[in-house]
Amino acid sequence: MVKNILTIPQNEQALRQKSQEITNFDKSVESLITDLTDTIEAQVDPIGLGLSAPQIGIFKRVFVARIRNRLKSFVNPKITKFGSNETSFLEGCFSVPDLYGHVIRPAEIDLESCDMHGKKAASHYNGVPARIIQHELDHLDGVLFIDHVHDQNGKVFKVEKDKRGKEQFVEVPLP
Ligand SMILES: [Zn+2]
Repeated sequence: MVKNILTIPQNEQALRQKSQEITNFDKSVESLITDLTDTIEAQVDPIGLGLSAPQIGIFKRVFVARIRNRLKSFVNPKITKFGSNETSFLEGCFSVPDLYGHVIRPAEIDLESCDMHGKKAASHYNGVPARIIQHELDHLDGVLFIDHVHDQNGKVFKVEKDKRGKEQFVEVPLP
């Protein structure tokens, strides 16, 4: 089912909660993943690269992420190792509407996570998938990308249309 996505500033308190691990791999996990999948698939402009359970008001450690054009679900994800190289990438978030900012993060990660049945697997990610996973995992700890922009003394931008209707980035204060 397509759910409402929580956004700041209205839902700031909820989005700042730390989510709980899944301990019971029952039907509710599958149904949560279905809701996350339906909700992200309903986002078309822009399309969603990832969506975490707390963003739809369920404070469990679950998210879906678009990895090489396929939606994959992650349950109880844990980063076991960060690579030493860092990259900067322009991030946005459905919970932080219309704002974008460059965030510096490790370029590679090793990740352990479970599937919806509780089966554990370990994988290595780099590039955009590593970026999406780190962004989504942050949501499970109540962290938003604008927190990193703030810590890194970065800037946030809003997309605005000029007189000719051409989109451009305009710097705005951090929310
Ligand atoms: Zn996000």
